Amino acid sequence: MNEIISAPEHYQPEKNGLKDKVILITGASDGIGATAAKSFAAHGASVILLGKTIPKLEKIYDEIINAGHPQPAIYPLDLQGATANHYAEMAESIEKEFGKLDGLLHNAAMLGALIPISQYSPELWNKITQINLTAPFLLSQAMLPLLNKSTAASILFTSSGVAHEGVAYWGAYAVTKAAADNLMGILADELEIDTPIRVNSINPGRVRTRMRALAYPAEDPNDNPTAESIMPAYLYLMSDDSKDINGKIITI
Ligand code: NDP
Repeated sequence: MNEIISAPEHYQPEKNGLKDKVILITGASDGIGATAAKSFAAHGASVILLGKTIPKLEKIYDEIINAGHPQPAIYPLDLQGATANHYAEMAESIEKEFGKLDGLLHNAAMLGALIPISQYSPELWNKITQINLTAPFLLSQAMLPLLNKSTAASILFTSSGVAHEGVAYWGAYAVTKAAADNLMGILADELEIDTPIRVNSINPGRVRTRMRALAYPAEDPNDNPTAESIMPAYLYLMSDDSKDINGKIITI
């Protein structure tokens, strides 16, 4: 397994630490992804907001514009049905608009249902695999030429505390998170020698979002850290300060 390291404590991002960077965020309409998009933009990045619910993406877009940050772009796409052709079209349109890509945050994911494997439906299994694993594979593959045009590019997968131990009922979600970490490790090793691209995973820990509430309905959401509170680690991993970190799972 790839080495697990802790996020740097007390990291202080520079105000313009992501200036001139172009960063694509999947699942930018809600939760951690929406907060990361706003935070990257606040630190100077042009962000590309990918998600499936257009009004929610437009809300994040407006918040970024109203705050006076660099103009973002919206890329509506349902990762469940997306094919290699959709990702090729996306790469073409990013190439036209921005000419390169400096960051790719694989954040979108589906939890599904917490049920035993004996009752797990193959349809749900396939759906979760498509969103949590196949989409990051296809998207990474399509974006490699654009990431190669950056002087220092960061691909960041999103891991989970249940990725590396078999915990009852977590089914396809946990399996796809483990597999995505392995994909991260393979890509990190392949790209290390002759590209400017580093590849890591981040495990955000428990965060007060819709997904967390679905997974732990009995929990008081106020007991969990906000997405804003974990942004220093995300900023670190997208900024050149983490240029030498590759093939790691960073836990918060
Ligand atoms: P949320 O459920 O709050 O947000 C998930 C995001 O993914 C939404 O923007 C959602 O879009 C998008 N998304 C889901 N399915 C698709 C799809 N088919 N196509 C495009 N976009 C899609 O989750 P969190 O913010 O909590 O989670 C973010 C990441 O962090 C995930 O990878 C999760 O596994 C991971 N994580 C979260 C933890 C937590 O405690 N919150 C703990 C450990 C890991 P829409 O709004 O349109 O549905």
